Amino acid sequence: MMGHNEMTSDEQIQQLQEELNRTAFHLLAVNQAMKMLGSVTQLQQTLDMTVDMFVEITRALWGCVLLPERGRSFVVRAAKGADTNNLVGAKVSIPPAALDWFRQRRSPVVVEGESNPQSDIIETLSRQMPHPCALYLPLMATDRLIGLIALGRKFRNLSYTHEELEVLSTLAAQTAIAIENAKLVHRLKGKVQLANQELREANRALSLEMAKLQAIVEGMADGLFVTDAKGRITFVNPAVRDYLGWGDNAVEGMSLRQCTPTETLTEVVNEVTSGQAQQSERELVITEPLRRVFTTRATALRDQKERLQGVVAVLSDITALKELADMKADFVSFIAHELRTPLTSIQGFINTLSYSPPGSFDQEEVSEFYEIIHNECVRLLGMINELLDVSRLEAGRPLPVSIAEVDLRPLVADVVKMQQYYIKGGHTLITDIPDDLPTVRADKDRVIQILTNLLSNAIKYSPNGGEVTTRVVAEDEEVIVSVSDQGLGIKPEDMSRLFTRYHRVITEDTARIRGTGLGLFLTKQLVELQNGRIWCESEYGKGSTFFFSLPRQRLDAAAS
Ligand code: ADP
Repeated sequence: MMGHNEMTSDEQIQQLQEELNRTAFHLLAVNQAMKMLGSVTQLQQTLDMTVDMFVEITRALWGCVLLPERGRSFVVRAAKGADTNNLVGAKVSIPPAALDWFRQRRSPVVVEGESNPQSDIIETLSRQMPHPCALYLPLMATDRLIGLIALGRKFRNLSYTHEELEVLSTLAAQTAIAIENAKLVHRLKGKVQLANQELREANRALSLEMAKLQAIVEGMADGLFVTDAKGRITFVNPAVRDYLGWGDNAVEGMSLRQCTPTETLTEVVNEVTSGQAQQSERELVITEPLRRVFTTRATALRDQKERLQGVVAVLSDITALKELADMKADFVSFIAHELRTPLTSIQGFINTLSYSPPGSFDQEEVSEFYEIIHNECVRLLGMINELLDVSRLEAGRPLPVSIAEVDLRPLVADVVKMQQYYIKGGHTLITDIPDDLPTVRADKDRVIQILTNLLSNAIKYSPNGGEVTTRVVAEDEEVIVSVSDQGLGIKPEDMSRLFTRYHRVITEDTARIRGTGLGLFLTKQLVELQNGRIWCESEYGKGSTFFFSLPRQRLDAAAS
């Protein structure tokens, strides 16, 4: 019989062959496993594959991968083999001493068959496993312990050979890298997802802003258009289409010169595109489709490198402002003239009276001069009061009215008599007032002011004379006063603005008639302050009738 050491050369060759086969098998397995691990980027998949690989290669009865959780404890993240179904998710607490020891050793720890100084620690750990552990493989990333592989006993209780442990050690190092990679990919994915989410949110916010901006631009009263750096139109809003009469025409892509009737617009934009100015502003008058005055402001659009990208131009309609400014200018010149006329007349009569030798005029003539002076003074005072009233209204202060019971009959007669004095022939002033006219609730002086205004307008706007009739009619609740003339009349389109401030209807006929455009505005305010209404009926070329109402004095109120 040959001893154990006395193998035949055949047997030795066979043993070497077997060892070689085993090593080759291990290398192949490792190679295969690493390839697979390298291709997987999901942590869980990596862990599942790791446990499969280790159990397969070692032919252990079971195995699991533990990863640290927050705090000290470890959790089983993947398991394979007998009775490991409920093991995944189980918490395992590893004593700090054991952790330190794994960290220092870095290499596989065989539980049985190897005497080690920490065997009691390892036993504490093993007791928490469903089956006895035979081997622990620390997973190290540089000097951090990022996990632990626990493997059970081998099939037929074979022991882990030295070279096998070396292979497993290499494999554990590679596995640690694969796990770290999967974690990194996971974190990166999270970051990418977050960035994506942020991007989506920013995008949503941006589209919301864009929609808002679009609504503003579409809805704004100002006209807006944008050109490129060469002055070709790239964007227009609805208002500018309306102002410049573009309608639905496709003007985008055209140069301004091709589609605007006015040079001014092209000039304003050119000033900016040529680089002469960053901003340019001009007043622009357009006569078609309507006469309108605009301020046009063009501003350069530049990119981050300050290169000119185009021009944004805004057209603001200042027609109404212009009209108001013109009206105010007319108004001042009118007032100066109107004040001078009665003053000149007063001065003339006073001079006549003072410097004529005694006896030049008889008593009747002297009385007439005094009456003229008196009337001119009344007219001046009326005008000044009217101006004071308007300035009060402009300042937002209320007009003073003191309401009392008023009998309109004598009042109307007085005003008509006063107006009679101003007509230079050609007009017939008629009054039509019932004898049993009830009294009204009003401010006597204010009614005089209203009536004077309506009568003087009726005379003023009947340059060819005719009848001017003041009629008073009693209704159930109110008394209605009307002043009719046979004069110029008013066009239907001018009716709506009659009672607005500074508004004057300028036609060929009225152009030479002077006025402030304040009379009817003030009159309307005064009527309404006395709880009345005012309105007008007119036929252009035939004449007008202005009506106003005042509430009747109630009998019970009068008695009290
Ligand atoms: P004005 O000082 O211009 O007379 P008003 O406010 O009294 O101002 O009147 C406004 C405008 O209404 C006048 O400019 C005139 O065109 C028109 N108007 C007023 N009264 C009459 C009338 N009786 N007949 C025709 N037009 C009138």
